[in-house]
Amino acid sequence: MSATCLKPAWPHFALRIHHSLRPRARNLPSHSRLSLRTSPFQRCLLSSSSHPPKRRRLLTLAIESSCDDTCVTILEKDAGPGGAAHFRFDEKITFANVLFRGVHPILALELHTRSLATMVHKAMRALPHASEPQTGEAGDGNRDAGASGGGDMVWVDGEPRRKPDFVTVTRGPGMRSNLTIGLNTAKGLAVAWDVPLLGVNHMQAHALTSRLVSALEAGEGGGQQRLAEEKGGEGIPGPTPEFPFLSLLVSGGHSMLALSRSLNDHATLATSRNIAVGDLLDKCGRLLVPPAMIAAAGDTVVYGALLEQFAFPRGAADYEYAPPPTRRDEIKTFDSGFGWKLYPPLSETVDMFYEFAGLRGQVQKILREQGSMNDEEHRLLARHVMRIAFEQLAGRLMLALSQDAEKKGDGDKSLRDIRTLAVAGGVACNRYMMHILRSMLDIRGFSHIGIVSPPSPLCTDNAGMIAWTGMEMYEAGWQSELDIDPIRKWPLDPKENGGILGVRGWRNTRHD
Ligand code: AMP
Ligand code: ZN
Repeated sequence: MSATCLKPAWPHFALRIHHSLRPRARNLPSHSRLSLRTSPFQRCLLSSSSHPPKRRRLLTLAIESSCDDTCVTILEKDAGPGGAAHFRFDEKITFANVLFRGVHPILALELHTRSLATMVHKAMRALPHASEPQTGEAGDGNRDAGASGGGDMVWVDGEPRRKPDFVTVTRGPGMRSNLTIGLNTAKGLAVAWDVPLLGVNHMQAHALTSRLVSALEAGEGGGQQRLAEEKGGEGIPGPTPEFPFLSLLVSGGHSMLALSRSLNDHATLATSRNIAVGDLLDKCGRLLVPPAMIAAAGDTVVYGALLEQFAFPRGAADYEYAPPPTRRDEIKTFDSGFGWKLYPPLSETVDMFYEFAGLRGQVQKILREQGSMNDEEHRLLARHVMRIAFEQLAGRLMLALSQDAEKKGDGDKSLRDIRTLAVAGGVACNRYMMHILRSMLDIRGFSHIGIVSPPSPLCTDNAGMIAWTGMEMYEAGWQSELDIDPIRKWPLDPKENGGILGVRGWRNTRHD
């Protein structure tokens, strides 16, 4: 078994899409992901003695091991609302899946076992040196949150370093054995360091990732934030998007549309009744992308990403996309002219489900019945299966928005005031999907809804989003008991068994 170390170049901008698909105009300066340098915002905080309340910096080490990626992050955040965030360390190793044409659960488990402790050890060398200035006066309301003074150090390679304030780990949903490795490592660290443990929800973390991006941006210059800080901390904007917003979570294991009303309240609006959209794209990638292109991609293959590259070699220049102006247009059969057709699933119903297994079945049937097909025909099939899948995602969004408009926006799932759709999960890397979402929102009268999406390394599974969720939960007073266990299925919606807070093992230090 071999593993590939993925250290993607860090794009310091959030992909924010409004009327057209375009990266944010302001590309923030790049720096090493392991850099220990202080950002301009940090320097500003540290140097000016006239600065009113200096804010303590919270530090967490976070672990993600729910599937086949082993990820560790050290994230630092200025305590309090609107606090800027910085990565001290962020690394990921993905299981080499090409031999198995996908995730191999047992070998992925082996990868976690072999890599995690080593990665944690490496991360500890990126903890702030104990001599680095650290402000300590501003409380954040969490009585366990104190982290200054000589006792709050760990020794790494003979050097004194700042001890994390708490340890964050993915508790679920995911593969139970894989989660257990991360969870037990995190428990060991929390016990050894005598700091709180936070076992967080992986899907909640995807939903909050755009808020992490806004905090990272604040750390990279954050003009607005700095001005507010200089005025004594008043009116400091919190992370964006602010609640409520819509979350479209699309990954290899999940497809869901939720109304994110607050940190722990994400009401389900639509969900998949079988496989996830990322799973469909991966399976179609294996069937349609030419073997030579797969071989050239190396050991670690994201088949869904290859499918997009194969379908649109010139990117947006190849789209030729006309959004369906009505639902009737959206559910039209596609006739290829080569003797095969594609039927959009769920055309008979407006139930709030996604159906991707049927679409995969149609592709398999076409390939079986058509016999040999050349690359051009494969490409046509790839384009249209993606179009139909993404229009289904967009179509359920339109239904949610228009049904709500009919209800005049009352009820507890009101979308009337929604201005932002936050898209996250690995499939959010797909530019064609983002183009379809934007185009359909515009043509159906929802151009006032902006789309935000994190940069690719934060869309796919990563420990940065886990660390951020830990930060938000910790600052809200939440901590986990040490006896928490992994959770294979863990809903976000409070109406489904209490959702995020419905599982045992949470305690709130503010209520104690
Ligand atoms: P996650 O489960 O969040 O780690 O995301 C992995 C999923 O993202 C896989 O199913 C991939 O197929 C999908 N994915 C990653 N990049 C892309 C892309 N550019 N286009 C489509 N899907 C992608
Ligand atoms: Zn995920």
